[in-house]
Amino acid sequence: MSETRQIDYVSEIERMKAEKNAVILAHYYQTGDIQDIADFIGDSLALSQKAASTRADIILFAGVRFMAETAKILTPDKKVLLPDMNAGCSLADSCKASDFIKFIKDNPGRTVISYVNTTAEIKALSDIICTSSNAVKIIESLPEDEKIIFAPDRNLGNYILNETGRDIVIWPGSCHVHEEFSLEAILVFKKEYPEAKIIVHPECELPVRMVADFIGSTSALLKFTQKDDGKIYIVATEAGIIHQMKRSSPYKTYIPAPPKDSTCGCSECSFMKLITMVKIYNCLKNEKPEIFVDKDILEKAQKPIIKMMEISEKLGL
Ligand code: SF4
Repeated sequence: MSETRQIDYVSEIERMKAEKNAVILAHYYQTGDIQDIADFIGDSLALSQKAASTRADIILFAGVRFMAETAKILTPDKKVLLPDMNAGCSLADSCKASDFIKFIKDNPGRTVISYVNTTAEIKALSDIICTSSNAVKIIESLPEDEKIIFAPDRNLGNYILNETGRDIVIWPGSCHVHEEFSLEAILVFKKEYPEAKIIVHPECELPVRMVADFIGSTSALLKFTQKDDGKIYIVATEAGIIHQMKRSSPYKTYIPAPPKDSTCGCSECSFMKLITMVKIYNCLKNEKPEIFVDKDILEKAQKPIIKMMEISEKLGL
């Protein structure tokens, strides 16, 4: 039997967590087995709040790079680990700092609000960070005549613009998972299960949002399935969240919204799925790969994240 087979990864990870005073923060888009070993599971807002308040010496982030960077920015003295440095994000990659500097210059006099799904460099260029959980509320908390730049997700930006009616210039980025859902395939399921409710993440394109019974962040979609009296849901966000939906309401049925290309498995984020139990084990054992953020960028990026957390706290989010 190989050495790999002899390791009980779950108990070894538990042992190392205790020994090293480490916590595992996992995003809802991780696989179910990883969600089950995490100390805390959440969406970007909740994970940022948790990272900022933890007393652990080591934070192992089961998620993608911008999330681990956010944890490092909020806790520079802690060791932040990411089991696979290739766990990037197509949305964060769609907004490069050099292009964004020009975009800001071309649209002067605007408050720059960036989604948490950005690199540390973009955060450092922003006034306030937001997540899909708090974006609308944060923008509504600003004076009505405040002009805004929103980056990097064009679909979330368009959703916020429609919800708030504010003067917003939107960076044209997108997430390859949320843009891939097929309206036609969703409607085929809806025909087959007329009682099903279509629940949609705001990063999805407008035609998909238009058929939604409910639109919300990943955590809002989870809460909706917990409180709603429906029995079947067509879920248009990354399919990892269905693990938590099944855990809290096991008697309900959840259908992952199909992607446009039925052969690609695009309703799963390939970056999120790079994190595996074996990589978590090796990462905790070797305490690397470790996240480092340039000191100057870190200090600049801290301010808009803290601003988001302060506004969220004030609004009770
Ligand atoms: S689901 Fe989309 S936005 Fe989220 S990490 Fe994956 S690529 Fe980025």
